[in-house]
Amino acid sequence: MDYDQARYSRDDQYEPLLAEKNATRVEIDEEDSPLPDELTRDAVELPDLSEPELARHYTRLSQMNWGVESGPYPLGSCTMKYNPSFTEDVAADPNAAVHPDRSARSVQGSLELLYDLQDYLARIGGMDAVTLQPPAGAAGEFAGILVAKAYHEANGNDRSEVVIPASAHGTNFASAAMAGYDVVELPSDEDGRVDVDALEAALSEDTAALMLTNPNTVGLFERDIVDIAEMVHDVGGLLYYDGANLNALLGRGRPGDMGFDIMHYNVHKTFATPHGGGGPGAGPVGVVEELAPYLPSPRVRERGGNYELFDPEESIGKVHGYQGNWLVLVKAYAYIARLGDEGLADSSAKAVLNANYLASQLDYEVPYEPFHHEFAATAGDRDAADVAKRMLDYGVHPPTTKWPEFVPEAMLTEPTEVENRDSLDDLAHAFNAAMADSDEELANAPSKTTARRIDQVSAAREPRLSWRALDADGE
Ligand SMILES: *Cc1c(COP(=O)(O)O)cnc(C)c1O
Repeated sequence: MDYDQARYSRDDQYEPLLAEKNATRVEIDEEDSPLPDELTRDAVELPDLSEPELARHYTRLSQMNWGVESGPYPLGSCTMKYNPSFTEDVAADPNAAVHPDRSARSVQGSLELLYDLQDYLARIGGMDAVTLQPPAGAAGEFAGILVAKAYHEANGNDRSEVVIPASAHGTNFASAAMAGYDVVELPSDEDGRVDVDALEAALSEDTAALMLTNPNTVGLFERDIVDIAEMVHDVGGLLYYDGANLNALLGRGRPGDMGFDIMHYNVHKTFATPHGGGGPGAGPVGVVEELAPYLPSPRVRERGGNYELFDPEESIGKVHGYQGNWLVLVKAYAYIARLGDEGLADSSAKAVLNANYLASQLDYEVPYEPFHHEFAATAGDRDAADVAKRMLDYGVHPPTTKWPEFVPEAMLTEPTEVENRDSLDDLAHAFNAAMADSDEELANAPSKTTARRIDQVSAAREPRLSWRALDADGE
């Protein structure tokens, strides 16, 4: 070992690689290989360990990490909302393991599940038709904007702009730009909502769509949504709802009823399916009747008691293999079916109550109120990122910091419906204790974690995904 282990872990918590514990050299018979000589090795080092050694290795690694099963995540659904394990059981059912190329006749049960999920999501969002294909929220947005584009083109409308509030999720800007639109950025008003005068000025015959989240990023409900919808429709534009996070709205309000024409859902943020490490998730898209012919294909329909796949007439085409991320959809279906109408409405009530209770226990100012399922506290004259690092020392995962930018030193927080009062109190303690610590303690935090402060820019821009590559560099 010629790397500096102290850079990666505290000595007392160091956990060697399996091959460093005990490896056996296994010769390979090169004659058997169809590959060119320069690509083959004559031996490999394989770990040679007992089952308990393996079990302990992985358990130790998991203890060096933080997961939603260790404690709460303050930006709950965006980072990770707790995923109830019954959905894993349903997805692990051998009957769920169907090959996607099987004939529709032989997988009627699976198609029925997809059909019902399309229907549940349509009813939850107040939409008329849903595709389950997109594999993530961003992919759903992109598909939704392509649907909007296809609709405008079919109506002989050459529109070039998509209007997006400055506080929107970064993927909104990217989706609109990838679909070939110019993005018109909308400032927030003093209350943190859409500035209606600025919207009026931004809208024109060139507007293809306005993309909105409601409640918005700082948890505020756009009270003028009905007027906003009318303004957009008056210039012939479409209203797009970023429904990645429906946690405040479930069972209480429907984007379709507010005048939205297109929306995506993140089943991995609202309906408790896992989304660690970038996926797999699912970002179904719902639309009003007029836009249904443009949805990605295939969709599922019912004909005389049978379920079948079909291609919408003017479909924008495929955006993912087969019907999307099947097992993720199974989990979302199981979650919605288990909670039912009442359970979903109860979860949004608790999400909003928990956010408001937590904020009431914090020694922080929350500049924008009244918020719903999430809020942006401000660290004031402290550095929000330092406070967040210090929170790690108090044994909790920190919130997202310094975003949205119009909240100074923002700490964006969403406890979700799954936390109880004790856990919210623990979270509040970590927030408050970190804020009360000295500048020096903040600057040196975290001091009690396995890995200390890492170089975040290099970690993002020059990821080294193999331990071996590190070793070879001698770094
Ligand atoms: C997470 C999120 C997205 C993007 O979803 P992904 O599944 O991460 O691609 C879009 N909009 C909002 C508001 C989000 O929170």
